[in-house]
Amino acid sequence: MSSLHPETRAVHLPRPVIEGSRPISMPIYQTSGFVFDDPAVFADGMGRPDGAYVYGRLSNPTVRALEEAVAGLEGGVAAVATGSGMGAINSVLLALVSPGDHVVAQGPLYGGTAHALADLSERFGVAVTYVPEADPAAVRAAVRPSTRLLYLETIANPMTQVADLPGMCATAREAGVVTVVDNTFASPVLCRPIEHGADVVVHSATKYLSGHTDVLGGVAVFASEELHRTVWSYALGLGATPDPFAAWLTLRGMQTLPLRMERHCANTRVLATRLAEHPAVSAVHWPGLPTHPSHELAAKLLPDFGGVFSFDLAGGRGAGEEFMRRVRLALLAPSLGGVETLILHPATTSHRSLDADALAAAGIGEGTVRVAVGIEHSEDLWADFRQALDGLAGLDGA
Ligand SMILES: *Cc1c(COP(=O)(O)O)cnc(C)c1O
Repeated sequence: MSSLHPETRAVHLPRPVIEGSRPISMPIYQTSGFVFDDPAVFADGMGRPDGAYVYGRLSNPTVRALEEAVAGLEGGVAAVATGSGMGAINSVLLALVSPGDHVVAQGPLYGGTAHALADLSERFGVAVTYVPEADPAAVRAAVRPSTRLLYLETIANPMTQVADLPGMCATAREAGVVTVVDNTFASPVLCRPIEHGADVVVHSATKYLSGHTDVLGGVAVFASEELHRTVWSYALGLGATPDPFAAWLTLRGMQTLPLRMERHCANTRVLATRLAEHPAVSAVHWPGLPTHPSHELAAKLLPDFGGVFSFDLAGGRGAGEEFMRRVRLALLAPSLGGVETLILHPATTSHRSLDADALAAAGIGEGTVRVAVGIEHSEDLWADFRQALDGLAGLDGA
């Protein structure tokens, strides 16, 4: 399977044999447990992530099909699916980090992850050092004997900085430190961090993997059996397991992931380049633009530049709020990675816990708008953005 292209692998999911034939589409095994004829098989299934199905919190055929499909796309040996992205991230952090350990992380991180690390630090004595996303020398300088993890994001939210995965992962490996990469924004279509030296890849499957804004999910993919087994046994104890229907919705959505990513990226290029030329816009942040600080690195690392970008309105906070009111097609909503175009104002929503200094350090302004571009026709999206922007210009008397 691994010699096939991602487009082909996404479509051809594992198919279980049932009485001599196989269902084309993976069935939903809506059961909490399994019965046994042989007590020895029952006993064996309890202790292994790849053994007989025993109990739904340990494993389920629909959930395992999702795990195998994501592991296949990411080039990992195995995966653990969870009920949300934070379920995957917390399972990995809690399974691999102990009190007194040290974590080096790229900053700023996705808000939920930053909170999880802050909590580990305050309540469990885990030290955390933040470094820039493309500075292997800073990782080398930060590493201590107690350093256990390096935590990165392929493309960060909302300013879309791209991590120097080869440089950062190699530095961690030399120091004997495990690297975890949140690959939610890139998806395995744009980047497979294990190919660049990562040990664990985490996803919010709520976003691009499922792709239809109808399910919450998470997945952690592993480069080694040992890491897989450690996190699997922790995640099932934590109760992070997804239900079979959520796993099935994610699997179903993933079959069109490569097709969707192509359109997300193409639409983003249209919007980002045209917004950059509009007088109401002071800056556009997307690694596909030569003005973005990550452009050169992104062009080397990724075949395309992703479906999320941000832009700053020259009119600041007032213009940001007015833009939100004026768009008609784009929806004012959290999340990303679905077929619909969604916008939000980071300073008052996703990043509201940052004070003015932290916002400025993250490059987020009062007039910054984040756009998660959908798969609509790009001209319809541009017409919507343009009418909203032209309305702003009218207000300013420009
Ligand atoms: C949404 C998101 C998460 C959290 O995932 P949930 O499915 O909401 O729990 C983690 N990382 C990134 C980059 C995300 O966008």
